[in-house]
Amino acid sequence: MTNRWQAIAEHIESVTGTPFKVVSSSSVSGGDINTAIRLQGADTSYFVKLNRAGLADMFEAEMAGLQELAQADVIRVPKAMATGQAQNQAYLVLEHIEFGGGGSTSSRMLGQQLALLHQLKQPYFGWHRDNTIGSTPQINGEYQDWVSFWREQRLGYQLQLAKSSGYSGRLQTKGERLAQELSAFFDNYAPQPSLLHGDLWGGNAAFDRLGNPVIFDPACYYGDREADLAMTELFGGFGRDFFAAYNEVLPLDPGYGTRKTLYNLYHILNHLNLFGGGYGQQAEGMIDRLLAELG
Ligand code: ADP
Repeated sequence: MTNRWQAIAEHIESVTGTPFKVVSSSSVSGGDINTAIRLQGADTSYFVKLNRAGLADMFEAEMAGLQELAQADVIRVPKAMATGQAQNQAYLVLEHIEFGGGGSTSSRMLGQQLALLHQLKQPYFGWHRDNTIGSTPQINGEYQDWVSFWREQRLGYQLQLAKSSGYSGRLQTKGERLAQELSAFFDNYAPQPSLLHGDLWGGNAAFDRLGNPVIFDPACYYGDREADLAMTELFGGFGRDFFAAYNEVLPLDPGYGTRKTLYNLYHILNHLNLFGGGYGQQAEGMIDRLLAELG
C-alpha cells in the first residue's frame, strides 16, 4: 500500500472512529476531471477522487455541496467523509455506492425527489461559498434579484472567460445584447432560490442496487429550479417518466421552454471554455434563438 493510501485510510479512521485497512485499490472510470479510485477495506469500501494539490478547494466545495444535499434528506447522495492533501495530491473521500439499473419506477422517484429538493429554499440567490462547474470556477455571490445573478454570476462570467481565451467578435456582441435584455424572459415569472444540484447531466445521476436515485458531483447553489431541469435535457438520459413525475409534484411554468435555452447556454459556454471546438457555434446559435424570441 502506498503512503498516500495509508494517509487517507488514517483520515477515514479518524472521521469514522472505526479501523480501516486498505485491502486493495482499483481505478474507476467515468469521470471528466479527476482520477477516481475505489479503496477496498475488509468490509467497507470508499470512493476517492484525486487531483493536483492546487485543486484542494474544489474538493472542499464539492464536499460542502454533498453535505448541503444530504441535509435536505430527500434524495440519496454519497456520504462525504473527508477531504485533504496527501503526497502532493488533493483528495476527496466518499462513501462508495454500488450502482445498479433503474427502471421507470426509479426514474419517477428521481423526478419526484428532485422536485422535493427544489422545494428547499433560502432567502437569497447564490450560496455561502464559490465552487466549480467542471473545473471552471463558479461564483455564488449573494443576490436578491435572480436576473442580475444570472447576468453577472453566470452568463457574464462565462462570456468574460471566453473573451479572455480569445473568443471575441459576434459571440461577445450578441452575448452582451442578450445580457441587457435578460429581464424580458422573466415577464410573469418570479424564480425562487431553490436548492439546486447545479450540474445535473446524466453522468451525475444513477441508481443504487435497490433502484433508489443517487445524485453526485454537484455544483450547488440556490437558484431557479428550471436551471437544474434544463440541464437534464441538455445531454439527455433522464427520460419521460422522470420529467412527468417532476411535473406532477412541481408543475413547470409555460415559459420554461424558452428559458431552458438561456440556462443551458451557461453550460455550453462552460464547455467552450473547457474544451473549445464547436461549442462556440452552438453557443452563438442558442443566443440567436433567444434574441429571436425578443423579436
Ligand atoms: P468527476 O468529478 O471526475 O467528473 P464523478 O464524481 O463524476 O467524477 O465520478 C466519476 C464516476 O465514478 C461516475 O460516473 C460514477 O460512475 C462513479 N462514482 C461517482 N461517485 C461514486 C461513489 N460515491 N461510489 C461509487 N461510484 C461513484
